[in-house]
Amino acid sequence: MADTMFKKVAFIGIGLIGSSMARRMKADGLADEIVCCARSEATRAKALELGIVSQAVENPAAAVYGADLVVIATPIGSYGTIAEAIAPVLKADTIVTDVGSVKQAVVDAVGAHLPSVKNFVPGHPIAGTEHSGPESGFPELFEQRWTILTPTEDTDPAATERVTALWRAMGAMVDHMTPSHHDMVLAITSHLPHLIAYTIVGTATDLEDDLRQEVIKYSASGFRDFTRIAASDPVMWRDIFLNNKEATLEILQRFSEDLTTLQRAIRRGEGDALETLFARTRKIRRGIIDANQAD
Ligand code: NAP
Repeated sequence: MADTMFKKVAFIGIGLIGSSMARRMKADGLADEIVCCARSEATRAKALELGIVSQAVENPAAAVYGADLVVIATPIGSYGTIAEAIAPVLKADTIVTDVGSVKQAVVDAVGAHLPSVKNFVPGHPIAGTEHSGPESGFPELFEQRWTILTPTEDTDPAATERVTALWRAMGAMVDHMTPSHHDMVLAITSHLPHLIAYTIVGTATDLEDDLRQEVIKYSASGFRDFTRIAASDPVMWRDIFLNNKEATLEILQRFSEDLTTLQRAIRRGEGDALETLFARTRKIRRGIIDANQAD
């Protein structure tokens, strides 16, 4: 049998993303031992029941003891406290990685506590669903999806190489970029769309009762797709906006300007302007389909 990639892997947080990774590692024999930490007894019991971890504990430091890979997979607002808790227990060569949806704030929050940042390889799988918790995970989640790693100047290339190899073994395609570039790219591809979805669904929620009932009844006309995105975990998304403030505000500013332009075109009856824009945006959809990233 081929050697496993890691002897002991510790997940801090075993929800949708952590449990999907654990499922895949377990299924493909990528680690000898997988353990996890979660806050609630219910989540720990579920992770054990699913058979994806051999041990589930409440204390992050207890989970990472003796681990050669630590994966932080909790909402990013908790990262600083977690890094502080695990730092004294890490071995000199333990690789620490994460899956958080924002990268510069994570580099700052985690880096401030680790004894050395050379083995910290920040990461973000561009894959997910609107569901949460260990029961929502599945081993194919990362298949043919991109994972972005954002090693810093201080990261040891050998550590980056091992984490890259792990993601490839889990079916992902891997790109490397700086944390700040990641945050700008994700502000437009993920954070702004979520903000728009939360806003539209919020507006509908505030409508008077009879109109709201009809919005639900006729949701297949477009609204439905926004409700799926706006069903995403509130704590996770609160933390994303609080931690990717600058990039989100910059993209939001551009978006507001474009929206104002559209508003004016509608008011003035400028059909050509509307049609030109709608024709241009169709090409983006075609590009996503061609890149095999449309579900
Ligand atoms: P999730 O399903 O809600 O799971 C979160 C896990 O973290 C749970 O096991 C939870 O335990 C644990 N947890 C929460 N707060 C904690 C704390 N303070 N200390 C210790 N454990 C804590 O979340 P997820 O969707 O997997 O997201 C996890 C990370 O992945 C986030 O940083 C997110 O930005 C990133 N991400 C998410 C997606 C997505 O589509 N969901 C995609 C890419 C990246 P309890 O259940 O016991 O509270």
